Amino acid sequence: MKVMKFGGASLKDKTNFCKTANIIMSEKMPKIPVLSAIYGVTDLLEACIKDSKNNETLIKSHIEEIKNRHYIMASQCIENLSILNSTLQNLDERIQKLERLLYGIAYTEEVTKKVYSLILSFGERLAVVTMAGVLSSLGAEAQYLESDKIGIITDSNFENASPVMPLVIENCAKNVLPLLDKGIIPVITGFFGCTPEGKTTLFGRNSSDYSAAVISSGIKASALEIWKDVDGFMSADPKIVPNSHLIDKLSYYEAAELSYFGAKILHPRTVNPLIKHSIPLYIKNFNSPEKIGTEVGAHEHQKETIIKSVTYNENISVLKIEGSGVGSKPGIISEIGSRLSHLGVNIYSIITSQTCINLLIDKKTSKISYDALKNMENGVIESVSLKDDEVVIAVVGIGIDRTPGLAAKLFQSVAQKNINIEMISLGASEVAIYFIVNQKDLKESVKAIHDDFFSKGE
Ligand code: ASP
Ligand code: MG
Repeated sequence: MKVMKFGGASLKDKTNFCKTANIIMSEKMPKIPVLSAIYGVTDLLEACIKDSKNNETLIKSHIEEIKNRHYIMASQCIENLSILNSTLQNLDERIQKLERLLYGIAYTEEVTKKVYSLILSFGERLAVVTMAGVLSSLGAEAQYLESDKIGIITDSNFENASPVMPLVIENCAKNVLPLLDKGIIPVITGFFGCTPEGKTTLFGRNSSDYSAAVISSGIKASALEIWKDVDGFMSADPKIVPNSHLIDKLSYYEAAELSYFGAKILHPRTVNPLIKHSIPLYIKNFNSPEKIGTEVGAHEHQKETIIKSVTYNENISVLKIEGSGVGSKPGIISEIGSRLSHLGVNIYSIITSQTCINLLIDKKTSKISYDALKNMENGVIESVSLKDDEVVIAVVGIGIDRTPGLAAKLFQSVAQKNINIEMISLGASEVAIYFIVNQKDLKESVKAIHDDFFSKGE
């Protein structure tokens, strides 16, 4: 059995929604579709929460918009009238509950993490109700399942939850697998789970890839397909390198490194739950289902070029913490880490020397991180500074750590263009090298590396 995950873009309008339904229908194997919200709906729910707190009068129009989008989709895609009516009724039940929750916010002027997570989960709930209706009207037996009702159990980190796998496995065996045995297609909500007490928790924004991997691992699926509007992972961003090519195979770790640093194909945590049972993951293009896409799995396939992809992340800032004694002061990294984790700041990477600690963090969190560390300036820490015009370039490929001359070739490519490399992280990952250049040098660096490793060499 396989899990098939579809994101917001594959559910954007009638054409895409129907295309997605047809892809599900034409799969011969027992299958479990996992859906994200219809395109833009989660953002809309975020806006609802904000507006409900400040201006109660906006609730009606927001609810109308959400209702319309799903009503229109259902009416356009479901031909069978009685299935359409029951689908609209199921949508209504949920939309009413959503409306009450928004009025709750208006009256209390408060948004707790619990309420925020619950409200944001509605996009996926409405999407699975609609899709189950569409599949039924196409002649399948389909049943929508909401992740908190079937026990996709997580910890209680409401906005960035992690699964409790033994409980997920137990509950999937009870609530999902029996449906498959009866020939029913269970259509499951991505993006959220719940605490053991049944309170809705989110895996984080844009995490439905990850939640599909959690479910795949929960049922020990034979494969996870992630359907996108692109063919798969590319050797470089086609906007910068028009002659970049599709990568047919990646290992779990290569895919994870690529996802962390730039390639927005996959949520970076997706491969985690798959590794234990070696569940292969396929990136597929819902506009061209016949294409094979990229396969991500346990295989370690070393290419002649060693490097498989060069990618980049423009959304990082470098926070530099300087002091002649930082290399010999016990506990300094943990002090920095705990200050930032209190603020919910994620550190992508740390590059250190005896006199300097460089933190790579998300640009959005740079100001609060800087403020939190600035007042550590005392004795050991002499200065804290922030650089916001940097980009990280990552090259990824199995064999990077054991190929003599590879780093030299890489940096030579960049040096030939007279570009200054500001920092390097090499050896920390077996499959990736990162380095930092100024934003203005991004495109030329990526092009130079791609040219030297692929175009000229092949
Ligand atoms: N709908 C959720 C979001 O927009 C999850 C996802 O799209 O992956 O964050
Ligand atoms: Mg989304």
